[in-house]
Amino acid sequence: MRGSLLNVKDLRVVFYTYRGVIKALNGVRLWLNEEERLAIVGETGCGKSVTALAIMRLIESPGEIKSGQVEFLGRDLLQLSEEEMEKIRGKHISMIFQEPVAALNPVFKVGFQVAEAIAHSQNISLKEAYDLVPEALTMVGLDWKRTIDLYAHELSGGMAQRVMIAMALAVKPKLLIADEPTSALDVTIQAQILELLDNLVKVGKNAVIFITHDLAVASEFCDKVAVMYAGNVVEVAISDEIFARPMHPYTVGLIDSIPLVGQRKELRGIPGIVPDLVDPPSGCRFHPRCKYVFEKCKVELPELVEASNDHFVACHLYSGGGSTWQP
Ligand code: SF4
Repeated sequence: MRGSLLNVKDLRVVFYTYRGVIKALNGVRLWLNEEERLAIVGETGCGKSVTALAIMRLIESPGEIKSGQVEFLGRDLLQLSEEEMEKIRGKHISMIFQEPVAALNPVFKVGFQVAEAIAHSQNISLKEAYDLVPEALTMVGLDWKRTIDLYAHELSGGMAQRVMIAMALAVKPKLLIADEPTSALDVTIQAQILELLDNLVKVGKNAVIFITHDLAVASEFCDKVAVMYAGNVVEVAISDEIFARPMHPYTVGLIDSIPLVGQRKELRGIPGIVPDLVDPPSGCRFHPRCKYVFEKCKVELPELVEASNDHFVACHLYSGGGSTWQP
């Protein structure tokens, strides 16, 4: 049986801006086992990337992690010193970013950057790590002789993302966080990169948090899907289950708004707009857009409860009759 790898509880993050305090994460709850793949989906601004950065402890000023727990292999990352956290990043948790060219260092050659990542993770010298660079670049389908001496600006988007994947996976992390890894690439390259990532993750047996706004890609690539809305996780279920039996009114709206291959259906958007998180709605943050809203929704934030077997939802429609889920 797969052991527990990550357990995020009540994670709260704010950003201090001239307009006021943005309450970006409002008590996020997530959990992940070893070798499991979890997709986090939701509209732009719902807190997907902020969640990833908070797990990595990479929230920078004017942002701040206000409270919560990020237990990774039983240790709360939020309680570690920066030095201890440095060892976790790059050794046990790696991240692939949305904009691969921007994420690479512009002044160092590809070979040096990959070697540095390997040296850091394996506690070996840079010279020893350099010997492993050809294998790392070949693994992601790059011609290492042509790539090793290039700078970031000399790479196409697809090549740069392959380099990022090589760096992220060469360190053999227990957890890989991929934040919209294909959104900056064109469609044909996107499919190649996803297939590559899929194969490498299978071989490496890494657990994955895959951040995307694309529910279809999420369900294909991942075992489990967590849907976020306005700073909260509102539903978590096995990928097939969430498509077959979505429970939260927001998830139902998301699924209704995407075209599915082979199905003729009328596409409907979700009425209303994503709330301003400087002054978010009280209670359930989805209530101004929800057609099922009732009085309790406006005053009380629903907790994530297990509404059916391994299917969790944060909505008062389900919590009324069921018992409150306790992790
Ligand atoms: Fe709608 Fe209420 Fe459920 Fe929120 S808690 S999604 S407002 S029914």
